[in-house]
Amino acid sequence: MANVPVIRNPAGRYAPSPSGDLHIGNLRTAVLAWLFARSTGRRFVLRIDDLDRVRPGAEQRQLADLAAIGLDWDGPVVRQSDRLPHYQAAIDRLTADGLTYECYCTRREIQQAATAPHGPLGHYPGTCRDLTETERAAHHTDGRPAALRLRAHAREFEITDELHGRYRGPVDDVVLRRGDGIPAYNLAVVVDDAEQGIDQVVRGDDLLPSTPRQAYLATLLDLPVPHYAHVPLVLNAAGKRLAKRDGAVTLGDQLALGNTPDRVAAALASSLGYPPVSPAELLDGFDPAYLTEEPWILDENGLLQPARCP
Ligand code: GLU
Repeated sequence: MANVPVIRNPAGRYAPSPSGDLHIGNLRTAVLAWLFARSTGRRFVLRIDDLDRVRPGAEQRQLADLAAIGLDWDGPVVRQSDRLPHYQAAIDRLTADGLTYECYCTRREIQQAATAPHGPLGHYPGTCRDLTETERAAHHTDGRPAALRLRAHAREFEITDELHGRYRGPVDDVVLRRGDGIPAYNLAVVVDDAEQGIDQVVRGDDLLPSTPRQAYLATLLDLPVPHYAHVPLVLNAAGKRLAKRDGAVTLGDQLALGNTPDRVAAALASSLGYPPVSPAELLDGFDPAYLTEEPWILDENGLLQPARCP
């Protein structure tokens, strides 16, 4: 891997996981990511985070829905499953720098240990960090599949976010490669964003707590740390994260009720405090300074009746 990739043409991105249909909150985040990039003349790329939870047909429907509400993107869609050697190269480099170790803990063991009052390393209590050679060899003969973890030398890392300002969060010994050999999201996202020239990551604010460890990982790999904008989620009437059971939450559900993609896009614009117009019509007036950290509460009719329809 090159030491520091030269970013000639910076980009924003949207990176859905193809685990199902995008819901209104995902579409709203995608619109914002598109607006942040396009309103500043940067490229906008789509990446499919398909190392985990893939549902057949979901990617195609996600792309179709994004296009239907008026978003476009540059170049081919990138899939993480096509980029495994890049993640391995990053892991090899961290390993060569003495920054990885094998971990034999099960999820259950980690949960039990994490509830102990003295977890020294944030979420992961460090059980396998300093095993002796004999202990490691015993695990190997047990045949227990090993995950690979980062040997972090920081407890916390600070990032700056467009909406949240300075944000400090824990850095722990994150998993870099799972026991089944698949690279972990926290590693893949760092490698991809850097190699795709992503200079600003716009995504849902549920991912804000993971960001310090991702930024820290970038510094260990000598990769540039992107700027961040963690945007508010869409919540249901009970104030909980939107889910399938909340009713007509996908574009497909809305179309089945007689809504149109243009009207859904217009309702998303309204929810951001703009007139009910298409993403393209928002470009000129888009100003991130007016975004709030407040979530959008979607009531049952919120999308069927945007303030004024185009
Ligand atoms: N694929 C992740 C998700 O859909 C988002 C990753 C990211 O934006 O960094 O939750």
